[in-house]
Amino acid sequence: MERHSRTMQRAAGRRRGERTPSEEQQDLVAASADGVTAITVAPTSFEIVNAAYGRTTGDQLVDAIDQRLSGALAEYRSAAVRSGATFTILVGGEAQIGDAAVDATERALEHPFQIDGETIQLGARIGVARMSEEEPLDQLLRRAAEALAYARASEGATRRIAADGRGVSLAALAADLHRAMERQEIDVRFQPQVHLIDGQITGVEALARWQHPRLGVLGADTLLAAADRAGLGVALSDHVQALALRRAADWPDALSGLRVAVNVTATDLSRTPFVSRFLARVHEAGIAPGRVTAEVTEGAMIDNLHAAGTALAALRAAGCRVALDDFGTGYSSLSYVARLPLDYLKIDRSLTQAAVSDARDRVVMQGVLAIAKGLGLETIAEGVETEAQRLLLAARGCTLYQGFLCAEPLDDAALIELVSKDRERELPR
Ligand code: C2E
Ligand code: CA
Ligand code: CA
Repeated sequence: MERHSRTMQRAAGRRRGERTPSEEQQDLVAASADGVTAITVAPTSFEIVNAAYGRTTGDQLVDAIDQRLSGALAEYRSAAVRSGATFTILVGGEAQIGDAAVDATERALEHPFQIDGETIQLGARIGVARMSEEEPLDQLLRRAAEALAYARASEGATRRIAADGRGVSLAALAADLHRAMERQEIDVRFQPQVHLIDGQITGVEALARWQHPRLGVLGADTLLAAADRAGLGVALSDHVQALALRRAADWPDALSGLRVAVNVTATDLSRTPFVSRFLARVHEAGIAPGRVTAEVTEGAMIDNLHAAGTALAALRAAGCRVALDDFGTGYSSLSYVARLPLDYLKIDRSLTQAAVSDARDRVVMQGVLAIAKGLGLETIAEGVETEAQRLLLAARGCTLYQGFLCAEPLDDAALIELVSKDRERELPR
């Protein structure tokens, strides 16, 4: 039997979701007359490990995952390729064997890892696709990657099996997206940002949704993946930002003091002239620039920090504010925070949630809050779901929070109702 490959091909620097099969994988497919199952696995809280313990530990963790998977799949005919922390594994054999390998993969990552004296507990998302007759390998890999994207997009499901041409694929969604924009199916919801001291809602973040006529409401991750696939990332960004700003400009008086934050992607930032286009959108919407925040991630700026810094400074000069999004994921670096012209640091949900249960993560959180404060930045904790999380953040001096504890992303009517209630509560009696 062939063994699970230990030396995996690294496919760094590729576009998200793109997988190139290794020779070993091609050989496996050629030798597997009884079928092939593709399994894509991505740890859910991997980025936080980089942020909390450093990149070396992150790298060691990926090696440890690699070894676990190799061990778990030793009895299968398998070949794997790694890209970042995502593993794409092909398993030869009938569907039942593939299913058993998926179970083994899931079980392999259930137990915590011990790295450098740290105990690290990971979650995982898994995408699965079964090769159909005559299916080319690259198509199989694409379907598995799409299944992973879906698994990531859904809050609950850890595993997703790709439809065999019957269900709706990402490709089909991508093909539909252009019309969806024209038909006004792309919508925004607004999630409140709440002051941690006085409980006031001071602003909202605009989050994209697709009101799909057959599939119901699709989340932002699925929508963005479909847009990427269709080459409509830029068009979608324009559409959603303009929509969010227009809607906010039209809000009734009760909401006219709220700030509105829109997400800005790497592609948005790199498309010149980003600043004048963004400001034109603000102007056309008829909203005061002073109410608008642009949310950017470090990943979006990594290619050209200097240019990104210049663009963000120009936005601020025009009165907008800038938030660094998802801090505490990816290769978060505090030196960026010091060098970029920012107003807010948004602490990623993974760190917010870990801080309650883990003393070490609490130390990381406290450090992040202290540095932000030292740099004069306000902090927004994301993903606050419990009172315990809120109290911890308030006690440690975080400025604002966002999360299901206050509200999920809301449509206009629900937002208006919530804010009005909030204001009534505050009126002196
Ligand atoms: P994000 O910017 O970090 O947005 C926060 C995400 O966390 C949202 O998911 C929100 O629904 C979810 N969330 C909020 N509170 C909680 C909570 O208490 N618990 C949990 N478990 N989740 C919470 P959503 O809307 O699915 O967006 C996912 C990501 O997609 C966003 O992450 C953002 O990066 C991107 N995105 C969303 N809308 C847009 C958009 O209009 N344009 C761009 N470029 N990106 C967008
Ligand atoms: Ca955001
Ligand atoms: Ca975020």
